[in-house]
Amino acid sequence: MSGIGDIKHKIMILSGKGGVGKSTVSVNLALSLKKKGYKVGLLDIDIHGPSIPHLLNIPTETLKATEDNKLVPIDIDGMKVISIGFLLDSDNRAVIWRGPLKYKMLLQFLNDVVWGELDYLIIDSPPGTGDEPLTLLQNVKDLSGALIVSTPQDIALLDVKKAIDFVNQMGMKTLGLVENMSGFKCPNCGTITHIFGKNAHQKLQKHFDIEHLISIPLTDSIVSNSDNGIPAINDPDIEKVFNDLTDKIIAKMDIN
Ligand code: ADP
Repeated sequence: MSGIGDIKHKIMILSGKGGVGKSTVSVNLALSLKKKGYKVGLLDIDIHGPSIPHLLNIPTETLKATEDNKLVPIDIDGMKVISIGFLLDSDNRAVIWRGPLKYKMLLQFLNDVVWGELDYLIIDSPPGTGDEPLTLLQNVKDLSGALIVSTPQDIALLDVKKAIDFVNQMGMKTLGLVENMSGFKCPNCGTITHIFGKNAHQKLQKHFDIEHLISIPLTDSIVSNSDNGIPAINDPDIEKVFNDLTDKIIAKMDIN
């Protein structure tokens, strides 16, 4: 059996801008769900900037295919992972493809991967509302919803509003907002500085009915762990935040 059709809960992670923590949220939400005993897959459809291999310290060129040409995901302690990054022969290789080629690759990721039995598939999409998220929404009609990630900065929110509008226009529901890089606590004096502003959810709620799920602080351990291919939830404080997010997501799936 291949393709994502049989996976119970398929969650798309979306942001308006790049660099706001979408891949960080994808990886750590997936790992946090796995820690709670669920069978989890992680699909990186960011064709031009796949970060998942690096965030999980998986070398490139490791993807294998079955005899009937289905892709076999990488298994990370039981979590199944697929990324275009695994097909590139170097971290520095740029993918220079026009729409039709990207469309073909995405359809292969959606239809021709041997995922096995999974409870959750977390789908990390590129920033914005381009070919990749559009292909996903047009071809997967039973997505559970889109989890929106943004920093509280006004310039990030400008684009995130478009991403939420895109989700609405496509007839899909938003599961809520993850406010990332939300305040930095000085390790010396404990003062909290809102480097990227604050209250993203309040700013968005003026325009959309979107629930604020969690706020992730701007944290130096996330930077150093990510750079070393170590999950952010290795820091117990960050793990707590992701536990909270995971519980809220699970509750939403149980209601539906
Ligand atoms: P995106 O997928 O939106 O492009 P990433 O998840 O790749 O963003 O994150 C961009 C960079 O910001 C990475 O280096 C990551 O480690 C860092 N980062 C993400 N969230 C935080 C945070 N809360 N605190 C500090 N650094 C963060």
